[in-house]
Amino acid sequence: MWENLSLKEVVELTKDPFPSIRKWVKEKGKKVIGSTIPDVPEEVIHAFGFLPVSLIGTDKPLKKAPSRLPDNACSLARSNLELVLSYEGDLFDGFVLPQVCDTTQHLSDIWRIHFPNKYMECFLAPRQVDRPSARYWVKEEIERLIESMGNWSGKKISNSDLMNSINLFNENKRLLKEIYDFKKKNPGALSNKEFFSLVKLSMQVDKEEFNKSLKAIKDQLKPQKGEGYLDVVLAGITCDPPEVYGLFDEIKLNIVADTLVTGTRYIQGIVPQDKDPVEGMVDRHMNRGFFSPIHDNVYRNFEEIKALYKENNAKAVIYIHIEFCESQEYDLPDLKNMLRKEGIPFHVMDTEYQTLSLSHLRTRLQAFFESLKGGAL
Ligand code: SF4
Repeated sequence: MWENLSLKEVVELTKDPFPSIRKWVKEKGKKVIGSTIPDVPEEVIHAFGFLPVSLIGTDKPLKKAPSRLPDNACSLARSNLELVLSYEGDLFDGFVLPQVCDTTQHLSDIWRIHFPNKYMECFLAPRQVDRPSARYWVKEEIERLIESMGNWSGKKISNSDLMNSINLFNENKRLLKEIYDFKKKNPGALSNKEFFSLVKLSMQVDKEEFNKSLKAIKDQLKPQKGEGYLDVVLAGITCDPPEVYGLFDEIKLNIVADTLVTGTRYIQGIVPQDKDPVEGMVDRHMNRGFFSPIHDNVYRNFEEIKALYKENNAKAVIYIHIEFCESQEYDLPDLKNMLRKEGIPFHVMDTEYQTLSLSHLRTRLQAFFESLKGGAL
């Protein structure tokens, strides 16, 4: 199903992977566990023999979510709730929902009420990972998830089951990283939309199959620098709808670094394999990059973005702000001030999962880069 996909097919499937997931699950007789982002240890779900599927919103119309969430709930939360209430809920046998902000905390209760017969678990990783208790806490959470999933499924998993899943998922991330490194130097060979589709689909389909496609795609890439590209850093949590990447491609922006949960923060999730698998997953959690609602250092967001900008010799930072994301709204004013003080060109794009027209985003983005080229920024 996913082992022999071309880049074009990956981009198509990423728009709506669910029909193919339905078909695959029927053929394989597997259970599906959905999780919202970020940081649910997918390897645990896979080790139990289930298909972990990240829920990253839908661009389909909102019908039920608005009556269940306040108007100022973020676009991602509304879109994910709609995805399961109106469109794909029956596909899932259960959900693991991380609680990272006030919105996700309330959301998990709403999901629990709407799906009383499905497996439902929260993943409560600490928001401040520099606290002495954080490591112990993450470990307890991973072990609690293993126990809860074992109780629900009646299965037990061993360290070697976990290690096999970690192996497979690490391979996926290594392949994505190699392709990303290639794309940064060869924007003419692989567009932003194509690359980030590879990451997104990796988060939603069977890795054993999809890794074969990734390997073949990687082997077929031919160097092509292209002309007139401007290197930029993309900051934020997610970047949707995917047409926003098409916009970057259209005006020849080459994303050379990012902080997205559906980008580098996912690829960074390689688990160390020289230790106990749970300890390895704890290490992974403690060492991941900045994520908006998680604060261990108020300057970390700024420091990380500044470092990415300088290391990659980028020309600007584009920040994707999800409509009504309270965590981003909390961080953004300081980040803006600090980057501007450093003289780093910074452009904020407000996005919404249900956006149908990108014309206003296009105009503002074009104006920003025209000014940048003209030296006004
Ligand atoms: S972090 Fe932001 S985008 Fe994510 S669920 Fe919370 S409010 Fe929504």
